[in-house]
Amino acid sequence: MASYRELLQRVKAEIDELGAGQARERHAATGGNALFLDVREQDEWDEGAVTGAVHVPRGNLEQRIEGLVPDRSREIVVYCAGGSRSAFAAKSLAELGYDNVYNLAGGFTDWKRSGFEIEIPQTLTPEQRARYSRHLLIPEVGEAGQQRLLQSRVLLIGAGGLGSPASLYLAAAGVGTLGIVDADVVDNSNLQRQIVHSTERLGEPKVASAKRTLEALNPDVDVKTYEERLTSENVERILGDGWDVIIDGADNFPTRYLVNDASVWHSIPVVHGSIYRFEGQVTVFEPHEGPCYRCLFPTPPPPELAPSCAEGGVLGVLPGIIGSLQANEALKLLLGAGESLRGRLVLFDALANTFDEVTVKRDLDCPVCGEHPTITEYIDYVEFCQGVRA
Ligand SMILES: [Zn+2]
Repeated sequence: MASYRELLQRVKAEIDELGAGQARERHAATGGNALFLDVREQDEWDEGAVTGAVHVPRGNLEQRIEGLVPDRSREIVVYCAGGSRSAFAAKSLAELGYDNVYNLAGGFTDWKRSGFEIEIPQTLTPEQRARYSRHLLIPEVGEAGQQRLLQSRVLLIGAGGLGSPASLYLAAAGVGTLGIVDADVVDNSNLQRQIVHSTERLGEPKVASAKRTLEALNPDVDVKTYEERLTSENVERILGDGWDVIIDGADNFPTRYLVNDASVWHSIPVVHGSIYRFEGQVTVFEPHEGPCYRCLFPTPPPPELAPSCAEGGVLGVLPGIIGSLQANEALKLLLGAGESLRGRLVLFDALANTFDEVTVKRDLDCPVCGEHPTITEYIDYVEFCQGVRA
């Protein structure tokens, strides 16, 4: 039976090792593109790490590496504090088919002593690590993705049927800043579907009610409220606060066209949703990458052909489904994960329980996002949407 020392020597003989100086030649700071993989424990990582390194504790390495580094030919420099734990890690990586792996001899201790690049990683608190533990287990999210969500800013147009589930799930997911634009107060007829509000909030501004619910759900989330209707006059001020993604849950056409034009000019992706009775639609408009709302609907429908939920009704659970799909698209955009609904309009029929998908192409003649735009500043959107009837 081998002693630890013999086993370590045997492993070290089977792997490639680099000293701190040689490893630095492969570091981004010197133009190299090796992935520095830190296999130490959480508390060691928290105190400082090689700049740009990715952290996977030794105990989780085999389980998580394929998700983090799908390319098995990627150059990897694996390190721990002194070079022993990482030697075993390097051997495991080789056994998993990673064929370009080096162990950093002397580990982080030597790297730091050499005066090379280190940083204090931004880390989650123990409470956050517990709260988001089911995210941390997913390779597409992980600690880096969760940090990104915490630093992300999503603007919700409307705290109604669609805004309710979308804001609740984004807050629960730890999206750090949520902006909500809504001028209405909570009404008794809202509560059949607008689950961010409650009976005790009747008569309260919806933005204030939503803020209370969301901040109670997750204290990591800062909710910025805009108790006003989005208009050509205030849209620049509100977008000027800086947003990564807009969730459009507006229930009227003037606001949808306004959100569209503003988002194209500010290059902010919009996750669009709409609902009516048993039917819902959801898609993503990524400015200049795919179609915009005007590519899809160049002109608004005549008002008499486009009844609102207030006029035609809506099944209470329907916004829960469509708004949740909107939250899903927003999270994917923020994380850079998966395929967005860009150029794809999903149609949901609640009675049949079917999802259909329609491909939507960018219109090069679009008056806003086309090659020769004819609309380059805000118009009177109410008039634009009524004008069709005249
Ligand atoms: Zn367009």
